[in-house]
Amino acid sequence: MSLHPVMGHAEARASLASAHLRHLLPAALLLHGARGVGKQRVALWLAQLLVCERPTAEPCGSCAPCRMALGLEHPDVHWYFPLPRPKGATGDKLVEALEQARVDDIAERREHPLRASHSDDVRGLYLGTVRSLRAKAYKRPVMARGPVFIIGEADLLVPQESSPEAANALLKLLEEPPGAAQFILTSSEPGRLLPTIRSRTVPLHLGPLPRATVSDFLQQDADVDATEAEWAAGLSQGAPGRALGFLPDGSERGPLERLRRRAYEIVAAAMGAGSSEGYGLALGFPPAGARGLVDLFDFVEEWVRDVAAVAAGASARVLNQDAVAELERRVSEAKVAPFAAALAFGSVERARELAWANVNPQLVVSGLVRDLRTALRSGSPEGATA
Ligand SMILES: [Zn+2]
Repeated sequence: MSLHPVMGHAEARASLASAHLRHLLPAALLLHGARGVGKQRVALWLAQLLVCERPTAEPCGSCAPCRMALGLEHPDVHWYFPLPRPKGATGDKLVEALEQARVDDIAERREHPLRASHSDDVRGLYLGTVRSLRAKAYKRPVMARGPVFIIGEADLLVPQESSPEAANALLKLLEEPPGAAQFILTSSEPGRLLPTIRSRTVPLHLGPLPRATVSDFLQQDADVDATEAEWAAGLSQGAPGRALGFLPDGSERGPLERLRRRAYEIVAAAMGAGSSEGYGLALGFPPAGARGLVDLFDFVEEWVRDVAAVAAGASARVLNQDAVAELERRVSEAKVAPFAAALAFGSVERARELAWANVNPQLVVSGLVRDLRTALRSGSPEGATA
């Protein structure tokens, strides 16, 4: 198996290729943009270009290093990403366990290059990860001019393990990259990167892809039928990785589809007539990491945006087009005023901050339902006092 073809981001890739060919590529890059937009795939494309024996504006695709890079088997291309913390291991054992988990995960990605990368586990980039990365950075490259390190979701570097050591160790590498080492960091939350790391990387933004590009990709590379591809592309916000997350996984709903529906339950409970609905919902809420909750709240925000669009009589602008009729019914029953949504956005933002601060998820969710209820039902008599 090899990686699926890289798609879109033509302008960004052209500027990266041109910098590489003129030997002007900064040693530490930060690719940032929405989750699932293809940042790590572009980073892998760049790694392939860097090791390619005959690079032009694209890797040649046929030399041995190119093929190894495409198969995730190049000995000088090192791909790191957040992983769940191995249980029970400490010290050197932890470093080994993390490295094994990474190798296993890459093997899994090689087998299933298009599996949705979304997971509910709490994941991080730990000091142990940075340690093994650093050891590789100081070793002589096997066949390339220098090693290439891809560090996906670099904002998930975990700084709380007794000290900001993980970040500091990485910082030193970025400051003085050994030999011809190349670092490519990616982040969908660049604001959460340590300022010291941000200031040592050259940023490049990857924007959303056209909906048609996402839909074509799903049909051609992921073997999705046209109707489902259009549906998922419509929800994807231009991010193919996100689109994959909506598609069913065997008999189960896709992970993002489960989140989207859960988010809808929150907004629906806030608009519903009985004010106890929200509490039951919150109590049944599974504990989740901050990242999982923040993902959920992103969907809540989308639904609030849709509620606002419907309340303003602009149903065509609704993102969740498969729910327009139901939204129209609920908005009219709850007498949501168009201005109410602005208040509701503030509630979602507050909930997001609480999630990042690791407040108990059930508390955050029940508070959110209550605040949304006050905001959205302010036009109805019982809402004003709820
Ligand atoms: Zn090549």
